[in-house]
Order: sequence, then structure tokens, then C-alpha cells
Amino acid sequence: MAITKTNFINYTRCARYFSLEQVKKDRLEADISYDEYKKEEKAEQLAEILGGMYEIGEDEEEIDLIDKKNIQLEAMMPYYNEVEIQAGILVEKYFGGNTKYAYKTKDQECFDFNRHGLRYLCYIDVYNEMENGTNIIEVKATTNRKYVDLKANYPKQDKYSIFAKIDNTYYLKEDIEGYDIESEMPLDKYYKQREKLFDRYGVGSYIYDLAVQRFIIEGEYKESNNLEAIKNTHYYLAVLNSSYIFDGTYIDGKAIYNKSADNEEIVVFFDMTKITEEFQKIILQDAIKLENNIKNSQIKECDLGKWCGYKKQNCCKFFGPICGKCIPKKNSSLNYIHNGFGFKNENGERIKGLELINKGYIDMLSIPEEWIVNPAHKIQRDCLSFSSEYIDKEKIAAGLKLLKYPIYHLDFETFPCPMPRFKGEWPYIQSPFEFSLHIEREPGVCDFDKDNYVFLNSDLSDQREEMIKKMIELMDPDQGTLFAQNVAFEKGRIKELASIFPKYKEPLMKLYERGFDLLWIINTKSDIYKDLGYDEERAKLFNYYNKNLSGSFSIKKTLPVFSDLSYDNLVVKNGTEAIVEYANYDKMSKEEFALKYEALRIYCKQDTWAMVLILDALRKLVK
Ligand code: SF4
Repeated sequence: MAITKTNFINYTRCARYFSLEQVKKDRLEADISYDEYKKEEKAEQLAEILGGMYEIGEDEEEIDLIDKKNIQLEAMMPYYNEVEIQAGILVEKYFGGNTKYAYKTKDQECFDFNRHGLRYLCYIDVYNEMENGTNIIEVKATTNRKYVDLKANYPKQDKYSIFAKIDNTYYLKEDIEGYDIESEMPLDKYYKQREKLFDRYGVGSYIYDLAVQRFIIEGEYKESNNLEAIKNTHYYLAVLNSSYIFDGTYIDGKAIYNKSADNEEIVVFFDMTKITEEFQKIILQDAIKLENNIKNSQIKECDLGKWCGYKKQNCCKFFGPICGKCIPKKNSSLNYIHNGFGFKNENGERIKGLELINKGYIDMLSIPEEWIVNPAHKIQRDCLSFSSEYIDKEKIAAGLKLLKYPIYHLDFETFPCPMPRFKGEWPYIQSPFEFSLHIEREPGVCDFDKDNYVFLNSDLSDQREEMIKKMIELMDPDQGTLFAQNVAFEKGRIKELASIFPKYKEPLMKLYERGFDLLWIINTKSDIYKDLGYDEERAKLFNYYNKNLSGSFSIKKTLPVFSDLSYDNLVVKNGTEAIVEYANYDKMSKEEFALKYEALRIYCKQDTWAMVLILDALRKLVK
């Protein structure tokens, strides 16, 4: 039986995974082909890309959509492949020697070894052979930020990363000769941050991947008694550089990723040789666990936990359909708002997250009343128990009064591409390709068609400047309100455009300053309500709640509460589908393009119309 890297990661999640996999598909093949291996890796790569999108602030609602639409995100695969190509090119540039990777050699180096009747195997993304040793490079379509952001400091002093970059490679500061870590942070704080690299379900997840590769590579070396090779092999992660800014060079229409003006490369390396070495004890324990899980295959239920990856991109495929099936879609014990710390029981112990499910507290009402101390939780519970509504009419009315007219209901559709495509962009920038604008000139005065303006890119070329011009033409930067649900997202895009196109900075930043969030009226924003004279507790509490919100103020939940509008009959139903249709522009026939183009216009238009309707419903609610 072949154990690939992906199998290793999944079969060690819990005692149950392997058995469920067996039921689903008999995997007792004696071998696994390269094509099968690549198929498994592809799913993992998509999760990486989605993880990258999530890092830059996709909200929970979008994660749900993405979970369902993984397969359609194959449109992003060419960009993932480009990350691998760029990593290969830069390995050749910075490491020298001979480099082997799929996009250059049409082949990847493979390692395997046998242990207790199982054949462990892995393919190497980039394999680099030098005179004095070998470099193993695992490419991930994530950014360097998650590692560089492992920072610590002395009280009231600047924070410093535990990594430092030399010649396009980040090293742990302890690995840099003569580096005075203590001049930047106390050593115990340094090691506390370093310890996070070993959290396979957190920041250490990709390092765990690399450590599994090391386990397999060293297994093969030990089998062939090549102990010298073990000593002379180094392990690196190659990731996208979030500080890289594309200079806009193209040759024959293809982006050329030169060094950026401030000397940054598109891909950077992290030397994880020491960390993956320390990881080997854990990997060996996990291999033993894996072998036990296979030998004593048991399908009976086991505890849910962080290994399930609930609500994350690496969520176990059995969570929704099997293990987490008991969790109701609405009003479960996990739907109490902002409840990261869980509940304190009568013995003073905290029970939180999936532990609640493991202990049988499954729906919202199953939480003992005495455990509920947070006023928001009490309201949630009462609204569910009595099918009632909570409305703070005074706060809603006060919020509405802050709106200045005209209201510009704005929504962007963006393409969060791993590779920057246009001048001034960086990895995973949310590059806008469409906006819809409904202009409400006076309260309740807005026509679905006449007051709507949609700008949608007509092809995959750079149309950002035209988009900016259209925005400035339609929205007066000196008056009114820039209005959106999660306005921070719209403001973020406007600010990025202002930084990339300084010519338009002034009007764009004026619009930016006029941002107001629909959720500040439905939910709350404590600062603005405190400024209006409300006490801390009331300012913090949501303004509206009913059981259909089920602990969430996402548009998916608020729209049906305040309007009859539905996305069900639309061709493009959500942001993920919009990304996919745009990414596939080039692959469409003329007729299909015309249909999909119109579908994208209708979808985005509905997003802004939804805000108009919700705002109107709120006005009526407090009349
Ligand atoms: S959902 Fe969790 S408990 Fe179930 S198989 Fe997956 S990892 Fe194991």
C-alpha cells in the first residue's frame, strides 16, 4: 500500500479517517501512479491558494462558498503553476547546481521507502543538486507573511521577527552567525514564537508537509545506507513574497517577474532544515499512529478537534457529510456570537468550540442557561426560544441619521490572484474587475435600473484606470456616503488603487474617508455609538437580532431577513463563481462570453440592490 504525503497528513488526523476512506474507496493498491499522486496534490494546491485568499481577509461567508466550489477554482491552477515555475527559476538563480522540477524537466524527483509493509513516497516540487549536497524545496502558494509575522519584543519596544532575510532566503535568527537576538527580544519570547512552527494545525502546517517529505527522503537514504546524504540535505519552503511589487514588464503578453524596484523577488525561501529535523520525532510518532490506524482500522466515532480543520481550508472532507453532521446548520452551540472563549460550567471549567459538540452540547438551547453571562448570548437565546426579534430602534435610527446623501451603494468583484498580473500589484492583491453602484439620492429614492451603474472588465487586460475614471465620474468625492456591507473591503480596494495610481489619489482617498458600513446599523460599531452618547455595553451590543441570523451578520443571513431577494435563480450566484467566470473569459466562445458577461453584471447589480433594500427595510423598521 502506498502512503503519499497527502495520505500521511490525512491518516494521522484521527483514528477514524483511514477507515472512512476505506469505506469510500478501497485504497489497498500495491502502488500509486505519478498521475494519481498529482491528482491528490492538486486538491492540496487548491487549498493552498484558497488559504492565501483567506490570509488577506476573506470572511467566513466566503469560506463556506469556497468549500462548496473548490472544484471550480481550478481556474486558478495556471497561477499556481506559475508560482512553481518562478520558484524553480529562482532556485537556479540563488542556489546554482542542477535543478529538477516538473515545469522544466516534465518530471519530478521521487523518493520512497518501505516501513512495516507500507510504501511511503513523495515527489519533490523543486530538487536542487549541488556539489556538496542537495536542497529540497517545497513550493507553497502562500505568502511569507505568516512566518515573518512571528514577532516578539521587549515591553514598549519595537517588535522583531524571529526570521531574517539574507540573499532572498529567510533564516531563523539563531542560525545566523553572530546575530544578537537578545538586543531585539528576550530569548524566552523568541522561543515561544519559534514553538509555533511546530503547530501542524496552525502556522506550522506547511512545515509539517516538508517534515513528512524529510521523513520519506531520509527513509530512502537509510534504506540505501547513504548516511552522508542525510547530513548534506537541506530543506526549504518557497513562498510568495508579500513585499514584491510587479513592475509591469511583459514579453509577448507574458508577465516577467523581474526584481522589484526595492530589490524584492517574487518568491522567497525559508531555510527549515533545523525545524524539520526537530520535527522528525513528531513525524515518527505520527507514522506509528498512522500504522496503528491502518492496522486497527476503526470506524467508530472519535472526538472532533483541531485536526478536523473545521471552518478552515484544510477541513477534513468527512466533517460535513459524516463526523460533524450532527451540528445543525442553524443555531448550533457554535453559533453564539464572538464566543471564542466558550462557556464556563458550574465547576469553573471552560468548554469551547468543538469540545461542546463532543460533550453533547449541540444546539444553541442545549447550553445550560446558568452558563450564559454575555448579554448578546442571552438575547440570541431568547430570540430562538420565543421566536422573537430584538430591535434597538433608537440606535438604528441614530445610525441612519449619520448617513449623508447621496448614498453610493458600492460593491467590487475582485480577483485575488496568487501572481500579480498588472503593474503595481503584489501577490494575492484583490484586483478589482467589476463594480456595481446604486445611487440613492434621497432616503428611499433609488431605481433598480436607472440609478445603477456597472463597470465590468471586457477582457483579462488591465482596465483599472478606466474603472477609476468611471468611479470618480459617478461618485462625488466631496459629498455623500460610500456605503457597503463590510465597507473595509471596498475601502481597502480604493486605497490600493490610490496607491497604485497616485494621479487619482486625492478623489479616491476622499471617497475612502466617506466609508460607512451597513453592518454598523444592523449589528453595531461601538466607537460611533459611544460618540453618540450610548454607554459602553449598549454601544457594543448588536442593534438587531432574530433567530434566522443564527449568529451571523453576513449578507447571506441578513438579506432574507430584510428582503425577498434571492440569488437562487441567478447564473452567477456568489463571489467565487464570479471569480471563476472572469478567470475563464479566455476559454469562452463568443456566445458563452456574452451570456456570462451579462450574468456577472446581474450578479453584482443584485449585490448593491440588496443593500438598498436592506437599508430601506431598516428605515421602515424604526419609523
Ligand atoms: S472529520 Fe475529524 S474526526 Fe472525522 S475523520 Fe475527519 S479528522 Fe477525523
